Amino acid sequence: MSISTDRDDRIQKVLDNSQAVMFYWRAEAGWPVEYVSKNIDMFGYTQEDFLSGEIPYASIIHPDDLERVTHEVVQHVNRGTGRFRQVYRILDKAGEIRWIDDRTSIERDEHGQARHFLGTVIDISEQKATEQHNQELINLIDQSSDQIYVFNQFSLKFTYLNQAALHNIGYTFEEAMELTPKDIQPEMDREQFLAKLKPLNSAERPQDNVCFETVFCPKNGPCYPVDVRVQMLEVSDRLQYVAVVRDISEHKELEKEREKEHQFVQDVVDGIADAVMVINADYSIRLMNKAARERIKPEWVADPGCPKCYEVSHYRSSPCSGKEHPCPLQMAVQSGETVSVIHDHGEEGCEHFVKLTAVPLHDENGEISAIVETAHDITDLMQAQRALQEQAERMHYQASHDELTGLPNRRLFDDRIEHAILRANREKQMMGLAFIDVDKFKEINDSLGHQAGDEVLVEVASRLKNCLRSSDTIARLGGDEFSLIIEGVKQQEAFRPVMDKIMQAFSTPIVTHCCEVCVTISAGVAIYPQDSLERKPLLRRADQALYDVKLHGRNGYRFYSDLT
Ligand code: GH3
Ligand code: MG
Repeated sequence: MSISTDRDDRIQKVLDNSQAVMFYWRAEAGWPVEYVSKNIDMFGYTQEDFLSGEIPYASIIHPDDLERVTHEVVQHVNRGTGRFRQVYRILDKAGEIRWIDDRTSIERDEHGQARHFLGTVIDISEQKATEQHNQELINLIDQSSDQIYVFNQFSLKFTYLNQAALHNIGYTFEEAMELTPKDIQPEMDREQFLAKLKPLNSAERPQDNVCFETVFCPKNGPCYPVDVRVQMLEVSDRLQYVAVVRDISEHKELEKEREKEHQFVQDVVDGIADAVMVINADYSIRLMNKAARERIKPEWVADPGCPKCYEVSHYRSSPCSGKEHPCPLQMAVQSGETVSVIHDHGEEGCEHFVKLTAVPLHDENGEISAIVETAHDITDLMQAQRALQEQAERMHYQASHDELTGLPNRRLFDDRIEHAILRANREKQMMGLAFIDVDKFKEINDSLGHQAGDEVLVEVASRLKNCLRSSDTIARLGGDEFSLIIEGVKQQEAFRPVMDKIMQAFSTPIVTHCCEVCVTISAGVAIYPQDSLERKPLLRRADQALYDVKLHGRNGYRFYSDLT
């Protein structure tokens, strides 16, 4: 066959501009090229590359395809085929792979021996790439772990199921092609199922997809929950429903676990006797325990779907404030630390104290996300504390006062003298210390009885008290002995009128339950600083003065300084 010399220019042009490259090979090893059209340049080669004999055709065939291509050619030659077609890869001049569609005619001699091949080679790389891409997509869909179901929009019959779908429902592809979604999700009848898909077909505003949960029942085996997303897509040139289905058994299990965990936490907090609430910064309650729920008075809660802490625990319509009801939430949010406050919720005649503790909860960024507030009723505790304090005060009083007259006893008296000495020293004044003893008190006791004796002692205390200023001290040291501390005096003479007044106070008889008694007293007085600067000598000296009065007939007083 001779082309280049015998064909006219028009044919040459057609060949050169054709998408098909023409080859004319010798049927020899390596397929040496005798002719190649000029458009071989679409593969980067020149005609010369082949015609010079430098590149035999076989050498541009992809090494992985060469054996198959050769084998097929040999078979066609041996079988006596005239034409055949092959698809294989060649390498262009730059070494890039090109897919080609090669249609070859075999030229034989008169003995039927193959002499030449005439081939037209078309570059189908692009088509191949698209095919490959589509295949990859199909593989991807087929191998997707999501179950994919395609079904007819009218009959609802399945037209395609991927591997995961087939595996999960347990039918073969052929069996599945006879089924509709209803056969694998018996929970929903056809109408219910169509109602779910309705938004996809809405005339005005069709929805892109619809999602719902249902239960799938495979051919053999237990049913399981699934999440379904259906779209209306063009598949195989017609609109079909495409459902992507996900097995959510594990998710449901996890949800159940979480629910159980949540219930456990709720049970634990419900077991706490104190009211516990988890509160957001806007005072809304995120979680509360049984004790807190029991406190709710519906008339105080504006929005039952979002109760506020102050509505639930304090029956207020605004956040707590002021000294009586400080807001622990605000304090905890401001300080970032645990805060405790005491609220007085007492009403008339009924005490009620609550200790509120707010503990901040932090999120992963360290920001305060909520507050845990516990309310502990401390009314009993407060009352017990107060009773203890009162008892302590009572005991302290009893330890320092005389039970019969209510006057300070010796212990408190000693303490008062020390203070009086310090004061007198500081203010440069005098302080008088008087010892007073009832005269012949034993006789009163003996003749009138102990009760009358007591009444006399109480009256003596009262009369002495009336003679003194409130800043002075009068104490009962024991028995019928009393003692006075007279302060704020500038000179000794000023003590006399006081002592006279005291003596005068006993000029009238004392009335007891049984009779009137004439009582006289004796007193001895020592004066700071002149008689002594210290407590004990002062006491001793007052006692000496008293003793002197007793010795000299009683019913009178004497200053220590007057003793001879
Ligand atoms: P004198 O004039 O020497 O003081 O004689 P007197 O009888 O008063 O003797 P003295 O002061 O020693 O007696 C005090 C008596 O007071 C002795 C005691 O029986 C009595 N007495 C002590 N404490 C109480 C008391 O709390 N109540 C009563 N009724 N008598 C008491
Ligand atoms: Mg006496």
